[in-house]
Amino acid sequence: MIIDSLEFARRHETLAGRLRLDEMPRLADTLFDAAGRLDYEVTGETDGRNAFLTVRLDGVLSLNCQRCLGALTHALSQRSRIMLVERGAPWPEDSQVGGLEDDACDAIEALCELDLVPLFEEEILLALPIAPRHERCELPSMAAVSRQTSPFAQLAALKRK
Ligand SMILES: [Zn+2]
Repeated sequence: MIIDSLEFARRHETLAGRLRLDEMPRLADTLFDAAGRLDYEVTGETDGRNAFLTVRLDGVLSLNCQRCLGALTHALSQRSRIMLVERGAPWPEDSQVGGLEDDACDAIEALCELDLVPLFEEEILLALPIAPRHERCELPSMAAVSRQTSPFAQLAALKRK
């Protein structure tokens, strides 16, 4: 999924579909399994001379609970606006990025071969909770609490999948 980012924005193009969770290695590390689904939509926008990509990510992921190591269903609904900065152009100050009321706006270099998958992956990783946990759950082995953090306990938990 490679786009010419500035052209994409200037033509106000849209690209939408479903992401393959197993194609994003950094994300896969944080998932319990690849059973979830994630839909994306990226839209090109311009505002005066500035160009943006608006990214929407919606879906359900299966995360690892940090307490019981079980699967934790997490609904993700993320919208971000990314400013495209042309090579050689001054990098905008944080407060200037977007120039609108939108404060959650990042800036990236306006590559003519922008690979969207790593961009989506980054946005997803930023949107996920740092230490996901079930609201109520038990440690994997209450009978042997001292073993719960050992690599062997984690390995046993992995084997139970
Ligand atoms: Zn749990």
